[in-house]
Amino acid sequence: VGEVSPRYSAVKGTRDIFPPESERWGSAEAVCRSVFSGYGYGEVRTPVLESTELFARSVGETTDLVHKEMYTFADRKGRSLTLRPENTAGVVRAVIESGAATGPMPLRLWYVGTQYRFERPQAGRYREFRQIGAELLGVGGPAAEAEILTMLFAFLSALGFVGLSVSLNSVGTAATRERLGEALRSALASSASRFGEDDRRKLEQNPLRLFDSKDPEVQSALAAGPRPMDFLDEASRRHHQEVCGLLRQAGIPFTEAPGLVRGLDYYTRTVFEVVSQGLGSQDAILGGGRYDGLVEALGGPALPAIGFAIGEDRLLQAAPYRPPLRGLALVLPGAPEDLPAALRIAEEIRKLGGDLSVETDLNGRGFKKAMGRANDLFSRAGELGFDAGRMFAVLVGERERAQKQVTVKRLSTGEQETFSESQLAERLGAGRQA
Ligand code: AMP
Repeated sequence: VGEVSPRYSAVKGTRDIFPPESERWGSAEAVCRSVFSGYGYGEVRTPVLESTELFARSVGETTDLVHKEMYTFADRKGRSLTLRPENTAGVVRAVIESGAATGPMPLRLWYVGTQYRFERPQAGRYREFRQIGAELLGVGGPAAEAEILTMLFAFLSALGFVGLSVSLNSVGTAATRERLGEALRSALASSASRFGEDDRRKLEQNPLRLFDSKDPEVQSALAAGPRPMDFLDEASRRHHQEVCGLLRQAGIPFTEAPGLVRGLDYYTRTVFEVVSQGLGSQDAILGGGRYDGLVEALGGPALPAIGFAIGEDRLLQAAPYRPPLRGLALVLPGAPEDLPAALRIAEEIRKLGGDLSVETDLNGRGFKKAMGRANDLFSRAGELGFDAGRMFAVLVGERERAQKQVTVKRLSTGEQETFSESQLAERLGAGRQA
Protein backbone atom coordinates (compact mmCIF):
# COMPACT_ATOMS: atom_id res chain seq x y z
CA VAL A 1 0.00 0.00 0.00
CA GLY A 2 1.51 3.33 -1.04
CA GLU A 3 1.20 6.74 0.56
CA VAL A 4 -2.38 7.89 0.89
CA SER A 5 -3.70 11.05 2.41
CA PRO A 6 -6.93 10.10 4.15
CA ARG A 7 -10.01 12.06 3.20
CA TYR A 8 -11.78 11.28 6.47
CA SER A 9 -10.37 11.05 9.93
CA ALA A 10 -11.80 9.68 13.17
CA VAL A 11 -13.76 12.21 15.20
CA LYS A 12 -11.58 14.03 17.76
CA GLY A 13 -11.29 12.04 20.98
CA THR A 14 -12.32 8.74 19.33
CA ARG A 15 -10.03 6.01 18.04
CA ASP A 16 -9.83 2.79 16.09
CA ILE A 17 -8.45 -0.36 17.61
CA PHE A 18 -6.98 -3.05 15.38
CA PRO A 19 -5.62 -6.54 16.01
CA PRO A 20 -3.65 -7.58 17.95
CA GLU A 21 -4.69 -4.83 20.40
CA SER A 22 -8.40 -5.47 19.80
CA GLU A 23 -7.78 -9.18 20.51
CA ARG A 24 -6.27 -8.20 23.83
CA TRP A 25 -9.38 -6.17 24.68
CA GLY A 26 -11.68 -9.02 23.73
CA SER A 27 -9.62 -11.47 25.72
CA ALA A 28 -9.62 -9.24 28.82
CA GLU A 29 -13.39 -8.90 28.49
CA ALA A 30 -13.64 -12.70 28.39
CA VAL A 31 -11.62 -12.85 31.63
CA CYS A 32 -14.05 -10.32 33.10
CA ARG A 33 -17.08 -12.32 32.01
CA SER A 34 -15.64 -15.44 33.56
CA VAL A 35 -14.67 -13.80 36.87
CA PHE A 36 -17.98 -11.92 37.23
CA SER A 37 -20.10 -14.93 36.38
CA GLY A 38 -18.25 -16.76 39.15
CA TYR A 39 -19.91 -14.28 41.51
CA GLY A 40 -23.33 -14.77 39.91
CA TYR A 41 -23.31 -11.56 37.88
CA GLY A 42 -25.03 -11.63 34.49
CA GLU A 43 -24.43 -9.26 31.61
CA VAL A 44 -26.94 -6.48 30.92
CA ARG A 45 -26.88 -4.56 27.63
CA THR A 46 -28.57 -1.21 27.61
CA PRO A 47 -28.85 1.33 24.75
CA VAL A 48 -26.21 3.97 24.09
CA LEU A 49 -29.06 6.44 23.58
CA GLU A 50 -31.11 7.53 26.57
CA SER A 51 -33.34 10.48 27.29
CA THR A 52 -31.36 13.50 28.50
CA GLU A 53 -33.63 13.83 31.51
CA LEU A 54 -32.40 10.48 32.88
CA PHE A 55 -28.85 11.79 33.40
CA ALA A 56 -29.92 15.20 34.68
CA ARG A 57 -32.01 13.41 37.34
CA SER A 58 -29.46 10.81 38.35
CA VAL A 59 -25.93 12.09 37.80
CA GLY A 60 -27.07 15.59 38.80
CA GLU A 61 -27.87 18.83 37.00
CA THR A 62 -24.92 20.72 38.49
CA THR A 63 -22.21 18.10 37.95
CA ASP A 64 -19.56 18.82 35.32
CA LEU A 65 -20.63 15.65 33.60
CA VAL A 66 -24.19 16.83 32.94
CA HIS A 67 -23.44 20.52 32.80
CA LYS A 68 -20.57 20.50 30.33
CA GLU A 69 -19.72 17.06 29.02
CA MET A 70 -22.77 15.38 27.53
CA TYR A 71 -23.36 14.69 23.87
CA THR A 72 -26.94 15.93 23.78
CA PHE A 73 -29.02 16.54 20.69
CA ALA A 74 -32.61 16.73 19.52
CA ASP A 75 -33.75 13.80 17.37
CA ARG A 76 -35.92 14.29 14.29
CA LYS A 77 -39.01 14.55 16.45
CA GLY A 78 -37.45 17.12 18.73
CA ARG A 79 -36.88 14.80 21.71
CA SER A 80 -33.74 15.54 23.70
CA LEU A 81 -31.46 12.49 23.65
CA THR A 82 -28.00 11.94 25.09
CA LEU A 83 -25.23 9.47 24.27
CA ARG A 84 -24.76 7.82 27.65
CA PRO A 85 -21.87 9.39 29.60
CA GLU A 86 -21.99 6.52 32.12
CA ASN A 87 -23.96 3.29 32.43
CA THR A 88 -25.42 3.16 35.94
CA ALA A 89 -28.38 5.43 35.18
CA GLY A 90 -29.29 3.33 32.13
CA VAL A 91 -29.04 0.07 34.09
CA VAL A 92 -31.26 1.45 36.85
CA ARG A 93 -33.78 2.72 34.29
CA ALA A 94 -33.81 -0.72 32.62
CA VAL A 95 -34.18 -2.56 35.93
CA ILE A 96 -37.19 -0.40 36.87
CA GLU A 97 -38.76 -0.54 33.41
CA SER A 98 -38.49 -4.34 33.14
CA GLY A 99 -40.06 -4.87 36.55
CA ALA A 100 -36.88 -6.53 37.86
CA ALA A 101 -36.65 -3.86 40.58
CA THR A 102 -39.73 -5.33 42.26
CA GLY A 103 -38.65 -8.96 41.68
CA PRO A 104 -36.35 -11.26 43.67
CA MET A 105 -33.30 -9.63 45.24
CA PRO A 106 -30.41 -9.20 45.07
CA LEU A 107 -29.88 -8.36 41.41
CA ARG A 108 -26.35 -8.87 40.14
CA LEU A 109 -25.55 -7.28 36.79
CA TRP A 110 -22.47 -6.26 34.83
CA TYR A 111 -21.93 -4.44 31.55
CA VAL A 112 -19.27 -3.40 29.09
CA GLY A 113 -19.72 -0.68 26.51
CA THR A 114 -18.84 2.69 25.08
CA GLN A 115 -19.53 5.91 26.97
CA TYR A 116 -19.38 9.45 25.63
CA ARG A 117 -18.10 12.60 27.28
CA PHE A 118 -17.20 15.89 25.69
CA GLU A 119 -13.94 16.33 27.60
CA ARG A 120 -10.64 17.76 26.44
CA PRO A 121 -8.88 14.75 24.92
CA GLN A 122 -5.46 13.86 26.33
CA ALA A 123 -3.51 10.72 27.16
CA GLY A 124 -5.94 8.33 28.86
CA ARG A 125 -8.91 10.62 28.27
CA TYR A 126 -11.16 10.15 25.27
CA ARG A 127 -14.54 11.39 24.13
CA GLU A 128 -15.60 7.85 23.30
CA PHE A 129 -14.24 5.34 25.80
CA ARG A 130 -15.28 2.00 27.20
CA GLN A 131 -16.31 1.12 30.70
CA ILE A 132 -16.70 -2.26 32.36
CA GLY A 133 -18.98 -2.06 35.36
CA ALA A 134 -21.05 -4.03 37.80
CA GLU A 135 -24.14 -3.18 39.84
CA LEU A 136 -25.48 -5.00 42.88
CA LEU A 137 -29.05 -4.02 43.80
CA GLY A 138 -31.06 -4.89 46.88
CA VAL A 139 -28.37 -5.15 49.56
CA GLY A 140 -28.08 -2.33 52.08
CA GLY A 141 -25.56 -3.94 54.42
CA PRO A 142 -21.74 -3.84 54.23
CA ALA A 143 -21.59 -7.37 52.78
CA ALA A 144 -22.47 -5.70 49.45
CA GLU A 145 -19.31 -3.60 49.57
CA ALA A 146 -17.32 -6.71 50.52
CA GLU A 147 -18.64 -8.71 47.56
CA ILE A 148 -18.31 -5.93 45.00
CA LEU A 149 -14.73 -5.06 46.00
CA THR A 150 -13.65 -8.69 46.32
CA MET A 151 -14.96 -9.38 42.82
CA LEU A 152 -13.26 -6.27 41.52
CA PHE A 153 -9.93 -7.36 42.97
CA ALA A 154 -10.35 -10.88 41.62
CA PHE A 155 -10.69 -9.35 38.16
CA LEU A 156 -7.76 -6.95 38.64
CA SER A 157 -5.47 -9.75 39.79
CA ALA A 158 -6.59 -11.97 36.88
CA LEU A 159 -5.27 -9.15 34.67
CA GLY A 160 -1.92 -9.34 36.45
CA PHE A 161 -2.15 -6.24 38.63
CA VAL A 162 -0.26 -6.38 41.91
CA GLY A 163 0.02 -3.80 44.66
CA LEU A 164 -3.19 -1.91 43.89
CA SER A 165 -5.15 -0.40 46.74
CA VAL A 166 -8.67 1.04 47.04
CA SER A 167 -9.12 4.62 48.20
CA LEU A 168 -12.20 4.49 50.39
CA ASN A 169 -14.46 7.09 51.92
CA SER A 170 -18.03 7.59 53.10
CA VAL A 171 -20.14 10.56 52.00
CA GLY A 172 -23.01 9.60 54.28
CA THR A 173 -26.62 10.34 53.49
CA ALA A 174 -28.37 13.22 51.73
CA ALA A 175 -28.49 14.98 55.14
CA THR A 176 -24.70 14.60 55.51
CA ARG A 177 -24.19 16.22 52.15
CA GLU A 178 -26.59 19.02 53.00
CA ARG A 179 -24.75 19.85 56.22
CA LEU A 180 -21.34 19.43 54.60
CA GLY A 181 -22.44 21.74 51.77
CA GLU A 182 -23.50 24.43 54.25
CA ALA A 183 -20.25 24.07 56.16
CA LEU A 184 -18.21 24.30 52.95
CA ARG A 185 -20.07 27.42 51.87
CA SER A 186 -19.21 29.28 55.03
CA ALA A 187 -15.68 27.84 55.39
CA LEU A 188 -14.73 28.72 51.81
CA ALA A 189 -16.59 32.01 51.46
CA SER A 190 -13.49 34.08 52.19
CA SER A 191 -11.38 32.16 49.64
CA ALA A 192 -13.97 32.28 46.85
CA SER A 193 -12.56 35.44 45.30
CA ARG A 194 -9.44 33.44 44.36
CA PHE A 195 -11.49 30.74 42.58
CA GLY A 196 -12.40 30.68 38.92
CA GLU A 197 -15.92 31.48 37.82
CA ASP A 198 -16.85 27.83 37.48
CA ASP A 199 -15.76 26.92 40.99
CA ARG A 200 -17.55 29.99 42.39
CA ARG A 201 -20.71 28.70 40.73
CA LYS A 202 -20.13 25.28 42.33
CA LEU A 203 -19.69 26.85 45.73
CA GLU A 204 -23.12 28.45 45.27
CA GLN A 205 -24.98 25.55 43.71
CA ASN A 206 -23.31 22.32 44.78
CA PRO A 207 -20.24 22.86 47.01
CA LEU A 208 -19.41 19.12 47.13
CA ARG A 209 -18.47 19.29 43.48
CA LEU A 210 -15.51 21.48 44.48
CA PHE A 211 -13.75 18.25 45.49
CA ASP A 212 -13.51 17.48 41.76
CA SER A 213 -11.72 20.75 41.01
CA LYS A 214 -8.14 20.61 39.76
CA ASP A 215 -7.43 24.19 40.84
CA PRO A 216 -4.71 24.20 43.56
CA GLU A 217 -6.38 27.23 45.23
CA VAL A 218 -9.57 25.23 45.61
CA GLN A 219 -7.75 22.10 46.73
CA SER A 220 -5.77 23.92 49.42
CA ALA A 221 -8.91 25.70 50.67
CA LEU A 222 -10.65 22.31 50.83
CA ALA A 223 -7.73 20.63 52.59
CA ALA A 224 -8.20 22.98 55.53
CA GLY A 225 -12.00 22.77 55.44
CA PRO A 226 -14.67 20.32 56.62
CA ARG A 227 -14.81 16.72 55.38
CA PRO A 228 -17.77 14.34 54.84
CA MET A 229 -16.56 12.23 57.80
CA ASP A 230 -17.20 15.17 60.18
CA PHE A 231 -20.91 15.08 59.30
CA LEU A 232 -21.64 11.37 59.14
CA ASP A 233 -24.71 10.15 61.00
CA GLU A 234 -24.18 7.33 63.47
CA ALA A 235 -25.58 4.62 61.17
CA SER A 236 -23.34 5.65 58.23
CA ARG A 237 -20.32 5.74 60.53
CA ARG A 238 -21.06 2.23 61.75
CA HIS A 239 -21.66 1.05 58.19
CA HIS A 240 -18.28 2.45 57.17
CA GLN A 241 -16.50 0.72 60.04
CA GLU A 242 -18.15 -2.58 59.17
CA VAL A 243 -17.12 -2.18 55.53
CA CYS A 244 -13.51 -1.62 56.65
CA GLY A 245 -13.69 -4.69 58.88
CA LEU A 246 -14.98 -6.92 56.08
CA LEU A 247 -12.35 -5.64 53.65
CA ARG A 248 -9.58 -6.42 56.15
CA GLN A 249 -11.00 -9.89 56.58
CA ALA A 250 -11.11 -10.38 52.79
CA GLY A 251 -7.54 -9.11 52.44
CA ILE A 252 -8.55 -6.24 50.15
CA PRO A 253 -5.93 -3.49 50.52
CA PHE A 254 -7.51 -0.08 51.11
CA THR A 255 -6.63 3.36 52.40
CA GLU A 256 -9.02 5.90 53.88
CA ALA A 257 -9.39 8.94 51.60
CA PRO A 258 -11.30 11.65 53.47
CA GLY A 259 -11.20 14.02 50.47
CA LEU A 260 -12.73 11.50 48.05
CA VAL A 261 -16.22 12.63 47.07
CA ARG A 262 -16.51 11.57 43.38
CA GLY A 263 -18.06 13.56 40.57
CA LEU A 264 -21.61 12.20 40.49
CA ASP A 265 -24.43 13.32 42.78
CA TYR A 266 -26.08 9.95 43.34
CA TYR A 267 -23.55 8.44 45.73
CA THR A 268 -24.47 7.71 49.36
CA ARG A 269 -22.21 6.33 52.09
CA THR A 270 -19.40 4.31 50.48
CA VAL A 271 -17.38 5.80 47.62
CA PHE A 272 -14.14 4.36 46.26
CA GLU A 273 -11.54 4.71 43.57
CA VAL A 274 -8.48 2.81 42.39
CA VAL A 275 -5.56 4.60 40.80
CA SER A 276 -2.67 3.02 38.96
CA GLN A 277 0.90 4.33 38.82
CA GLY A 278 2.41 5.05 35.46
CA LEU A 279 -0.72 6.36 33.77
CA GLY A 280 0.22 10.02 34.05
CA SER A 281 -2.26 12.62 35.21
CA GLN A 282 -5.33 10.54 34.30
CA ASP A 283 -4.49 7.80 36.76
CA ALA A 284 -7.91 6.67 38.03
CA ILE A 285 -8.69 3.29 36.50
CA LEU A 286 -12.03 2.92 38.21
CA GLY A 287 -14.51 4.48 40.55
CA GLY A 288 -17.64 3.42 42.31
CA GLY A 289 -19.85 3.61 45.31
CA ARG A 290 -23.19 3.06 46.91
CA TYR A 291 -26.27 4.78 45.52
CA ASP A 292 -29.08 3.93 47.92
CA GLY A 293 -31.41 6.72 46.76
CA LEU A 294 -31.12 6.41 43.00
CA VAL A 295 -33.61 3.67 42.19
CA GLU A 296 -36.33 5.50 44.07
CA ALA A 297 -35.35 8.88 42.60
CA LEU A 298 -35.82 7.41 39.12
CA GLY A 299 -39.32 6.21 39.95
CA GLY A 300 -38.61 2.70 41.29
CA PRO A 301 -38.94 1.19 44.75
CA ALA A 302 -36.61 2.24 47.58
CA LEU A 303 -33.76 -0.14 46.79
CA PRO A 304 -30.20 0.11 48.10
CA ALA A 305 -27.50 -0.46 45.48
CA ILE A 306 -23.78 -0.28 44.86
CA GLY A 307 -21.57 -0.49 41.78
CA PHE A 308 -18.36 0.46 40.06
CA ALA A 309 -17.18 1.49 36.60
CA ILE A 310 -13.72 0.64 35.28
CA GLY A 311 -12.25 2.73 32.46
CA GLU A 312 -11.32 -0.07 30.08
CA ASP A 313 -8.97 2.10 28.02
CA ARG A 314 -6.88 2.98 31.06
CA LEU A 315 -7.24 -0.48 32.54
CA LEU A 316 -5.69 -2.09 29.47
CA GLN A 317 -3.00 0.52 29.22
CA ALA A 318 -1.93 -0.23 32.79
CA ALA A 319 -2.60 -3.98 32.94
CA PRO A 320 0.28 -6.45 32.56
CA TYR A 321 -2.28 -8.79 30.97
CA ARG A 322 -1.35 -10.66 27.77
CA PRO A 323 -3.85 -12.98 26.08
CA PRO A 324 -2.91 -16.68 25.73
CA LEU A 325 -0.65 -17.23 22.69
CA ARG A 326 -2.11 -18.90 19.60
CA GLY A 327 -0.63 -21.25 17.04
CA LEU A 328 -0.66 -20.37 13.32
CA ALA A 329 -0.90 -22.50 10.19
CA LEU A 330 -0.37 -20.67 6.91
CA VAL A 331 -1.68 -22.74 4.02
CA LEU A 332 0.25 -21.76 0.92
CA PRO A 333 -0.72 -22.79 -2.62
CA GLY A 334 2.25 -23.08 -4.98
CA ALA A 335 0.28 -21.44 -7.79
CA PRO A 336 -3.27 -20.16 -8.38
CA GLU A 337 -4.40 -23.60 -9.57
CA ASP A 338 -3.48 -25.06 -6.18
CA LEU A 339 -5.93 -22.73 -4.41
CA PRO A 340 -8.96 -25.06 -4.35
CA ALA A 341 -6.87 -27.77 -2.68
CA ALA A 342 -5.35 -25.22 -0.29
CA LEU A 343 -8.80 -23.99 0.74
CA ARG A 344 -9.96 -27.55 1.35
CA ILE A 345 -6.87 -28.44 3.40
CA ALA A 346 -7.17 -25.23 5.45
CA GLU A 347 -10.72 -26.22 6.33
CA GLU A 348 -9.55 -29.70 7.37
CA ILE A 349 -6.92 -28.20 9.65
CA ARG A 350 -9.55 -25.95 11.24
CA LYS A 351 -11.65 -29.01 11.98
CA LEU A 352 -8.76 -30.41 14.03
CA GLY A 353 -9.74 -27.77 16.58
CA GLY A 354 -7.35 -26.35 19.14
CA ASP A 355 -6.26 -22.76 19.23
CA LEU A 356 -4.67 -22.59 15.77
CA SER A 357 -5.37 -19.70 13.45
CA VAL A 358 -5.47 -21.06 9.92
CA GLU A 359 -4.86 -18.65 7.04
CA THR A 360 -4.77 -19.41 3.33
CA ASP A 361 -2.70 -17.32 0.94
CA LEU A 362 -5.76 -16.36 -1.13
CA ASN A 363 -3.78 -14.50 -3.78
CA GLY A 364 -1.83 -17.66 -4.64
CA ARG A 365 1.41 -15.73 -4.98
CA GLY A 366 3.60 -18.82 -4.92
CA PHE A 367 5.82 -20.33 -2.24
CA LYS A 368 8.61 -17.80 -2.41
CA LYS A 369 6.58 -14.66 -1.77
CA ALA A 370 4.26 -16.41 0.67
CA MET A 371 7.21 -17.76 2.70
CA GLY A 372 8.53 -14.21 2.88
CA ARG A 373 5.34 -13.18 4.65
CA ALA A 374 5.40 -16.30 6.83
CA ASN A 375 8.92 -15.46 8.04
CA ASP A 376 7.91 -11.88 8.65
CA LEU A 377 5.00 -13.04 10.84
CA PHE A 378 7.35 -15.41 12.64
CA SER A 379 9.81 -12.62 13.41
CA ARG A 380 6.97 -10.64 15.02
CA ALA A 381 5.35 -13.64 16.72
CA GLY A 382 5.35 -12.21 20.24
CA GLU A 383 3.94 -8.85 19.22
CA LEU A 384 1.21 -10.55 17.17
CA GLY A 385 0.26 -12.97 19.93
CA PHE A 386 1.56 -16.16 18.29
CA ASP A 387 3.39 -18.98 19.99
CA ALA A 388 6.58 -19.08 17.90
CA GLY A 389 7.02 -22.82 18.47
CA ARG A 390 3.61 -23.58 16.96
CA MET A 391 3.83 -21.67 13.68
CA PHE A 392 3.67 -23.71 10.49
CA ALA A 393 3.61 -23.20 6.75
CA VAL A 394 1.57 -25.87 4.97
CA LEU A 395 2.69 -26.07 1.36
CA VAL A 396 0.22 -27.30 -1.26
CA GLY A 397 1.85 -27.50 -4.71
CA GLU A 398 1.35 -29.53 -7.84
CA ARG A 399 3.51 -32.38 -6.54
CA GLU A 400 1.65 -32.57 -3.22
CA ARG A 401 -1.72 -32.51 -4.96
CA ALA A 402 -0.80 -35.34 -7.29
CA GLN A 403 0.17 -37.53 -4.30
CA LYS A 404 -2.61 -36.33 -1.92
CA GLN A 405 0.15 -35.04 0.31
CA VAL A 406 1.08 -31.87 2.14
CA THR A 407 4.43 -30.40 3.10
CA VAL A 408 4.61 -28.88 6.56
CA LYS A 409 7.40 -26.52 7.51
CA ARG A 410 7.91 -25.56 11.13
CA LEU A 411 8.85 -21.89 11.05
CA SER A 412 10.94 -21.94 14.23
CA THR A 413 13.38 -24.59 12.97
CA GLY A 414 12.84 -24.56 9.22
CA GLU A 415 12.34 -28.37 9.44
CA GLN A 416 10.15 -29.60 6.64
CA GLU A 417 8.30 -32.88 6.15
CA THR A 418 6.02 -34.23 3.44
CA PHE A 419 3.34 -36.72 4.39
CA SER A 420 -0.08 -37.87 3.29
CA GLU A 421 -3.11 -35.65 3.89
CA SER A 422 -4.67 -38.30 6.08
CA GLN A 423 -1.83 -37.85 8.56
CA LEU A 424 -2.49 -34.13 9.03
CA ALA A 425 -4.25 -34.52 12.33
CA GLU A 426 -1.47 -36.59 13.82
CA ARG A 427 1.37 -34.46 12.43
CA LEU A 428 -0.13 -31.12 13.33
CA GLY A 429 -0.98 -32.42 16.77
CA ALA A 430 1.88 -30.23 17.90
CA GLY A 431 -0.23 -27.30 16.70
CA ARG A 432 -2.90 -28.02 19.23
CA GLN A 433 -2.67 -26.89 22.75
CA ALA A 434 -2.28 -29.70 25.25
P1 AMP B 1 -16.68 7.81 36.38
O1 AMP B 1 -17.82 7.23 35.60
O2 AMP B 1 -16.46 9.27 36.09
O3 AMP B 1 -16.72 7.47 37.81
O4 AMP B 1 -15.36 7.14 35.79
C1 AMP B 1 -15.00 5.81 36.04
C2 AMP B 1 -13.74 5.50 35.27
O5 AMP B 1 -13.98 5.65 33.87
C3 AMP B 1 -12.58 6.45 35.54
O6 AMP B 1 -11.87 6.04 36.67
C4 AMP B 1 -11.76 6.30 34.27
O7 AMP B 1 -10.92 5.16 34.32
C5 AMP B 1 -12.81 6.07 33.22
N1 AMP B 1 -13.06 7.32 32.46
C6 AMP B 1 -13.85 8.35 32.81
N2 AMP B 1 -13.84 9.31 31.86
C7 AMP B 1 -13.01 8.88 30.89
C8 AMP B 1 -12.56 9.40 29.63
N3 AMP B 1 -12.99 10.57 29.17
N4 AMP B 1 -11.70 8.66 28.88
C9 AMP B 1 -11.26 7.46 29.33
N5 AMP B 1 -11.65 6.91 30.49
C10 AMP B 1 -12.50 7.60 31.27
